[in-house]
Amino acid sequence: MKEKEQYIIPIFVPHLGCPNDCTFCNQKSISGQTKKITKREVKQTIEKYLKSFKEEDSYKEVAFFGGSFTGIEKEKQEELLEVAYEYIKNKKINSIRVSTRPDYIDKDKLKLLKKYGVKTIELGVQSTNDYILKRCKRGHTFEDVKKASKLIRRYRFELGHQMMIGLPESTKLDELNTAKDLAKLKPKIIRLYPVLVIKNTELEKEYKNGEYEPLRVEQAVERCKELYYFFNRKKITVIRMGLQSTDLICSPENEKSEVVARAIS
Ligand code: SF4
Repeated sequence: MKEKEQYIIPIFVPHLGCPNDCTFCNQKSISGQTKKITKREVKQTIEKYLKSFKEEDSYKEVAFFGGSFTGIEKEKQEELLEVAYEYIKNKKINSIRVSTRPDYIDKDKLKLLKKYGVKTIELGVQSTNDYILKRCKRGHTFEDVKKASKLIRRYRFELGHQMMIGLPESTKLDELNTAKDLAKLKPKIIRLYPVLVIKNTELEKEYKNGEYEPLRVEQAVERCKELYYFFNRKKITVIRMGLQSTDLICSPENEKSEVVARAIS
């Protein structure tokens, strides 16, 4: 039998009030340029995408990307979720997914997401090595990842993990160990993101003064390939490898085969 076509309706949630300072993230410069998303914009985006989908009988999902969704104030989360939930009730979309940080998960936050029909929660893990997490100023530990992952599964959400490849001082072995740690937490899906050096980040400074050496494209591909096979053997689906090019990020190929991106400004 032919599988249903799957469509994602991406809704970019700016990094509203993220108090963190991960060295690879340029959220401060992004948030300076991005106004708050409104429910009207969510509705317009959903309508626009629904009109563009060819297959009537498809699986459609609204995905709130680009920030730590459960770190947004509760009223704003409800405002955005209410719009998407209406489409679930009217059977025009099938599910909702959000992405967030491991330390922004607790029972109350999960109850709120449940109320509005969220099916999948993706956690930005990046690494399970506490030294590497600290080195990147992530502001959470592997313990937070374990607690959040267990709670998400206990509340019967589909669990997703996002990990990064080539973080400062992270070796191939560290990444394989991260993959093993994550597999034990039983995520359903994984995203693998090789590090991109983005303009106006602390990582860019480290790169320029020689403290950080990015992976070459071939190294990033090789490491992702091994992790892909590892997760495949564990029956965990890798749904994405690498960031999408956006208006803000140009292709790494432009930088003589180093995984480097620059904001176009
Ligand atoms: S990566 Fe996420 S948590 Fe870290 S600074 Fe950026 S938005 Fe905040």
